[in-house]
Amino acid sequence: MKKKQFKAESQKLLDMMINSIYTHKEIFLREIISNSSDAIDKLCYTAMNAGDTSVSRSDRMIHVHPDKENRTLTVSDNGIGMDKDDLENNLGIIARSGSLNFKKDAGQSEDMDIIGQFGVGFYSAFMVADEVTVVTRKYGSDEAWMWTSSGADGYTIEPTAKDGVGTDIIIKIKADGEEENYSEYLESYHIKNLIRKYSDYIRYPIRLDVEKSRKVDVPDSDEPKYETYTELETVNSMIPLWQRNKDEVTDEELNEFYKDKFFDMKDPAHVIRIDVDGSISYKALLFIPSATPMGYYTKEYQKGLELYSSGVMIMERCEDLIPEHFRFVKGVVDSRDLSLNISRELLQHNRQLRTIASNIEKKIRQELKKLQDNDREKYEKFWQSFGLQLKYGIVNEYGAHRETLKDLLMYHSSRENKLQSLKEYVDLMPEDQKYIYFAVGESVPMLENLPQTETVKDKGYSVLYMTDEVDEFVVNMLGEYEGKQFKSVNDKDLGIEDEEDKKDTELKEEENKVMLDYLRDCLDGKVSAVRLSHKLKSHPVCLTADGEVSLEMEKYFSTIPGDGPDIKAQRVLELNPTHKAFYMLLDAWQLDKDRCARLGELLYDQALLIAGLKVDNPARLTELMWEMM
Ligand code: ADP
Repeated sequence: MKKKQFKAESQKLLDMMINSIYTHKEIFLREIISNSSDAIDKLCYTAMNAGDTSVSRSDRMIHVHPDKENRTLTVSDNGIGMDKDDLENNLGIIARSGSLNFKKDAGQSEDMDIIGQFGVGFYSAFMVADEVTVVTRKYGSDEAWMWTSSGADGYTIEPTAKDGVGTDIIIKIKADGEEENYSEYLESYHIKNLIRKYSDYIRYPIRLDVEKSRKVDVPDSDEPKYETYTELETVNSMIPLWQRNKDEVTDEELNEFYKDKFFDMKDPAHVIRIDVDGSISYKALLFIPSATPMGYYTKEYQKGLELYSSGVMIMERCEDLIPEHFRFVKGVVDSRDLSLNISRELLQHNRQLRTIASNIEKKIRQELKKLQDNDREKYEKFWQSFGLQLKYGIVNEYGAHRETLKDLLMYHSSRENKLQSLKEYVDLMPEDQKYIYFAVGESVPMLENLPQTETVKDKGYSVLYMTDEVDEFVVNMLGEYEGKQFKSVNDKDLGIEDEEDKKDTELKEEENKVMLDYLRDCLDGKVSAVRLSHKLKSHPVCLTADGEVSLEMEKYFSTIPGDGPDIKAQRVLELNPTHKAFYMLLDAWQLDKDRCARLGELLYDQALLIAGLKVDNPARLTELMWEMM
């Protein structure tokens, strides 16, 4: 049977394509300028192969000219141009890409960076235009042609005159609609922004007629008068920093680039350059800010890297390129190996992106480790700004990244009185120390005075002071480091107690059980138990918690706004059986039970204060203090 060819309603197809491929109308300019750049690439390549030395690369450029009066935006290039056949084939057939064919014929070449491939970009101009006119003269020809179309109803081609080879694309900008402001595509400042945004790294100068105004002196008049004039400006940077050789780029330039692009007032703390040549080649220029950006730890902050394909911006913020735990990193990624979809707004294969992303993640990790090892001062500064983020990184996604991030952690160590990595802590542990001891609280000074830490410190062991709410979750998630388990100083069994002491205390607790239970009952549900502790040295009391929820977790949950779960720790009041205060309690228990209860109340309040918690009734506390005094 004879196969029949599909027919298509080309008008409808064009309409559909124009209005449904692209999410942003403004990218039409990117597409038209990319075509011009391709045309210049082609001319240079063709002339070189023909041995024609009259065409020099340095004379090539793209000229953008807005004309408000006639509502036209003209993009001109002195590239290869088109003859009548080219116009028929390339602009008359939708989805036919002359550029892709050219690239196929020419093969890979260092000097060529052809962007076009789908054969649809040109028509994106109809998103903003009533009519598009193309005036063009091909390299090697004296004839010039004019192609005109107002979109769906077809096109005309007729001979015309044109000086020099190249192409003018004259876009007749639509009238403003109710929702759409098309006139802004005639404003030079807006066009300039669009060029900077999407086409900054086109390799040829893009020169724009920029509208300016100046004051003119009018004799015998106080009224200032202004006149407008246009000035030709080159608006694109052409060669991106990341494409230049490492040693050709100064720190100054990198800093300026960062501040300009990412709206930061301060220089970046650290710059990471990546240049990968492999199955997927890419270059990346990454920055770690020197301070926590405003609103960084909120939902409003958006992560992502800028994504370029051969110097043309594809995505302003590609979230998939950077993992959550390094979301503070800013920068750009440029690869010519991405398979883009037809609108060039998205990628076809996420596999490529994933490869790049995992590569970038690893590189950032290595850089941070290097900083931690070789430039501690800089790393500590980084840690102040983004350490919290890394802690979240350990806890989030059910700890998926804990193994790769744990070495980057830093905590204040009591013995060395400075920040230490877990590795450093473990390396400095005395031989008989079995656990990694830690205490959680509001601040280092508060933790330094925490009674529960005394026994551990007296033993010559260091305690890690943890001051972020997420720290306990981090410790739970890690469980151990290099085979050493974490142990809270609040733990009933610290693993260092003198067995005699322990027995003594247990015996005493047994003997005084009735009084301890009485105190618990007097505290009226505030604590789940009153116990004796062998951990305390010079302090009379401390507050700890039984069960899974610690005091710090309770504090954390209480700060979550809204009707969150009312999660409470099971508080335990621990008394030091060798302290004077305990003997006072015993005396009172014999002579005056009420006084004993009030003493218990006072000790509980003291324990609260030491733990950095609020006392329930400060007036009552002062009253009790006066009474006892
Ligand atoms: P693509 O750029 O993806 O190939 P377009 O629809 O943008 O698709 O363009 C179709 C074809 O028209 C191009 O491949 C190219 O051959 C031709 N073309 C477009 N603009 C120009 C120009 N300024 N100079 C020369 N040829 C052009």
